[in-house]
Amino acid sequence: MEFIRNIFCVGRNYRLHAQELGNEVPDSPMIFSKPSNAIALANRSEITFPGGLGEVHHELEVVLLIGDTYRKGKKVEELVGEMALGIDFTLRDVQSKLKAKGHPWLLAKGFKNSAVITEFHPFPGVNTSIEANFSLWKNDECIQQGAMRDMIFDLQTLINYIGENFGLRQGDLIFTGTPAGVRAIHENEHFQMKWEDEVWGEFTAKLI
Ligand code: ZN
Repeated sequence: MEFIRNIFCVGRNYRLHAQELGNEVPDSPMIFSKPSNAIALANRSEITFPGGLGEVHHELEVVLLIGDTYRKGKKVEELVGEMALGIDFTLRDVQSKLKAKGHPWLLAKGFKNSAVITEFHPFPGVNTSIEANFSLWKNDECIQQGAMRDMIFDLQTLINYIGENFGLRQGDLIFTGTPAGVRAIHENEHFQMKWEDEVWGEFTAKLI
């Protein structure tokens, strides 16, 4: 994963998820970023997370890999070469404290292994990808699922917004937001990320 450059993430991009955390639905995309050091690959590995800092929540998301430099007017299909599934891991109790103080979220969102991704797959285009169901399974039980047609800000809007404000280049990732169903993880739970019925990545959680 040495080719990954910037990691952009979208907050509150699914209405039911914004509501489950008691947040307002935003009127423009809400973007934050993670260090590229946060990447971990879900390749049947054991992945470690902080064990003593309160709840660690899973946020299952579609992840886009940018393949070309953003310019105004470029379509999603011209810019996105490949896609993956990922989990934007979040220290929820830490985040709540930071939010209350008005501080940046980095400690809650940017820790090591907080950006877990599957292997990459060719991007099938907007129309096909927004209809597909993606899901997170814990010990063979489905615990989170969504489809990109339910996004508040669609892929073109997100890419235009991020491209205009921050630039986008080959090797940048976009975590496109989580649907509802975020919960705390526990020691030794086994997770699988599925695109339709296909397992794209899996790992076991360790809390240390
Ligand atoms: Zn997220």
